[in-house]
Amino acid sequence: MIRGLKNLTKEEKTLLNSTLCHDPKSKHKFTNWSRTFDCEPFLYLAPTTENEVIEIINFARKRGLSVKPIGSGHSPSDLACTDGIMLNMDKMNRVMEVDLENHRVTVEAGIRLKELHLVLKKWNLALSSIGSISDQSLAGVIATATHGTGIEYGCFSSIVVDLVLVDGLGRRHYCSSDVNEPLFNAARCSLGALGIITQLTIQCEPAFLLKAVQVPEKLDYILDNLIDLLDESEHMRFWWFPHTDDTVLWKANRTKEPVKPLKEGFVMDKLFGFHFYQFQLMLARYMPSVIPSITKSHYQLRFNKKVEWVDESYKVFNFDCLFPQYVNEWAVPVENTRTALNMLRALFTAEPDLKVHFPVEVRFVKKDNVMLSPCYNQYVCYIGVIMYRPYYLPVPYKKYWKAYEDIMRSLRGRPHWAKAHKFYYFDFLKAYPEFPRFLEIRQAVDPEGIFLNDYLKRHIMPPSAENCTGPLSSKSGTEKQNSKL
Ligand SMILES: Cc1cc2nc3c(=O)[nH]c(=O)nc-3n(C[C@H](O)[C@H](O)[C@H](O)COP(=O)(O)OP(=O)(O)OC[C@H]3O[C@@H](n4cnc5c(N)ncnc54)[C@H](O)[C@@H]3O)c2cc1C
Repeated sequence: MIRGLKNLTKEEKTLLNSTLCHDPKSKHKFTNWSRTFDCEPFLYLAPTTENEVIEIINFARKRGLSVKPIGSGHSPSDLACTDGIMLNMDKMNRVMEVDLENHRVTVEAGIRLKELHLVLKKWNLALSSIGSISDQSLAGVIATATHGTGIEYGCFSSIVVDLVLVDGLGRRHYCSSDVNEPLFNAARCSLGALGIITQLTIQCEPAFLLKAVQVPEKLDYILDNLIDLLDESEHMRFWWFPHTDDTVLWKANRTKEPVKPLKEGFVMDKLFGFHFYQFQLMLARYMPSVIPSITKSHYQLRFNKKVEWVDESYKVFNFDCLFPQYVNEWAVPVENTRTALNMLRALFTAEPDLKVHFPVEVRFVKKDNVMLSPCYNQYVCYIGVIMYRPYYLPVPYKKYWKAYEDIMRSLRGRPHWAKAHKFYYFDFLKAYPEFPRFLEIRQAVDPEGIFLNDYLKRHIMPPSAENCTGPLSSKSGTEKQNSKL
């Protein structure tokens, strides 16, 4: 007997028996990676096959429940939260087909990137560009247009060749650039709002080694030489250390040089760079004025030297993101990079009490034609800001976010979908030419709205009393923090 469910048919019992993954007498508690949002779904199910996904959709419709697929729960917002059925897609992680001639693989959507790297390695293939970590699921990174860096390399949504989606009426759709193209261009970055993606074919390339060169540089040097720097490296990012003019420039190119892994020192990187840093940030909660000194000392001791290494691509792309954090990240047209960073620098001068953590991370991504991708029809510069949560403790960040978002908005910015932001229906209408088309497609594939959670209602649906839930009053996800911050 499952709490709150009466008159289950034999088929429903069989379905729940094989997919339920929590104690039937109590609710599962979902918390995102940063522990900034949590929720208690009515049911937490893990389907193993596409047929089970279809049966779950039919069951949800009959019972009037909403459905939310999740990956690894890394989105730093309530995007993955629900009070309906939460679908853990971890068991749908099989490899269906490898096309060596075209360097493509077809996989089930729940596969984690770290699993995918190993599969690809076996076939001498690799992903062309990935972000900072590989814990996420493939469907999760595609759903939010997750990106790495490289001005000629697109976000995850742009590498999808075809996909299969189960919609809100339990129908199965195959789509690609040749078959049902509008659905394809909508589904490649669809936040779980169109249905459950069950499998995807993605474009890869032959496995490669990357040589990374990391050097200290001044912010003005980078801004003055941005075009050349973007030209000379396939993948380029830099971290700016706010309250200083220092940056760390990271450039990576494909190489045939022998592997020479990055050497991480226990004392400098683990003890000082992680544990002591976390402790310092905990103390800085009571004395924010010390933050610039902390930043300077870390820059001097850890980043103020040239480092080079060569390794398999995914090992070079990924790095340790330290401890939980509040993050915000928007994409601006690449030509606005300099203005955006200068405005941010001016903000710290104008607001001497605003002390923020390093780094401000700056990355570059190729344009694409995915309806809701922040890179839709524009080459972009992503600027990410961060406030760490030492030992999961809250730190003030709202004033910083407000000022940062005002700057990004003024420069035609589009927010990263996974991160908590203040962009809503009318903003999206202005910023995304195909937004109305996306909503039409959404209505057609989910006429009963079973895929809408509070995040989606709040951000992408036209405003109505029903859709006006703020992050702190949300029904399906709760923001775990002090609202005064
Ligand atoms: C430490 C850290 C580092 C990060 N680094 C980067 C980075 O370098 N670059 C970047 O762009 N982002 C980055 N992110 C953000 C992260 O990549 C996104 O939040 C991503 O969406 C998380 O994937 P997930 O598998 O955890 O998905 P979840 O957070 O669980 O879900 C995200 C969305 O995907 C949808 N979804 C999941 N599975 C399916 C499915 N089968 N069908 C349809 N929809 C589905 C969910 O419904 C939800 O809307 C980072 C986040 C963290 C915490």
